[in-house]
Amino acid sequence: MRVLIIEDEARLAENVARSLRESAGYAVDVALDGEEGAFMAESNPYDLVILDLMLPKLDGLSVLQRMRDSGSAVPVLVLTARDEKESIVALLNAGADDYVAKPFDLGELLARTKALIRRGKGQSAAVLKVSDLEINTADLSVRRKGKLVSLTAMEYRVLEYLAHRPGAVVPKTELLEHLYDFNWERFSNVIEVYVSGLRRKLEDSGDTKLIHTLRGQGYMLRG
Ligand code: CA
Repeated sequence: MRVLIIEDEARLAENVARSLRESAGYAVDVALDGEEGAFMAESNPYDLVILDLMLPKLDGLSVLQRMRDSGSAVPVLVLTARDEKESIVALLNAGADDYVAKPFDLGELLARTKALIRRGKGQSAAVLKVSDLEINTADLSVRRKGKLVSLTAMEYRVLEYLAHRPGAVVPKTELLEHLYDFNWERFSNVIEVYVSGLRRKLEDSGDTKLIHTLRGQGYMLRG
């Protein structure tokens, strides 16, 4: 998953980014003003945008309106100050999905972030199930037939992304764009490595195949 943080307090933005990278395995981009944020939101396929309200150059509400006007349906979590009640109503009316008041607890922000990403992909449960495979997005654990499977962070990210779209063909470019930040082109040859690692760990001989490669099209997770 790939998240954009639009927040002008650089230190706060970095703390949130680090927490999302380390505890959720997300790729994270940071924009330090509203103009840059709106531009990045329009140019990249994010799974969630975390948007501060008071921003230089373009305020949070205007960024949100610009995103929704351009047809973007990406979930948006707004960071507000405690006394901005009227702004919150305006933000929700403008298409924000949730908000957290500053100062916030990083654990709460992380939980809301995960919930919004799941809902944005049409899933509300924290455990994604595909056939006999269970992917727990809360503690990042994976089980097949009830047995714990140990994955690397990147293998987990690939699997979780595929598990949000079971039965659908996911092109390699889409995986790369959602699993890495803006330097994703550098990594275009490694997806095959992660997929073969996943196959080795998830598919014992005799098990049903879970990850299917469609030559020239992409990957599909299906039991
Ligand atoms: Ca601010």
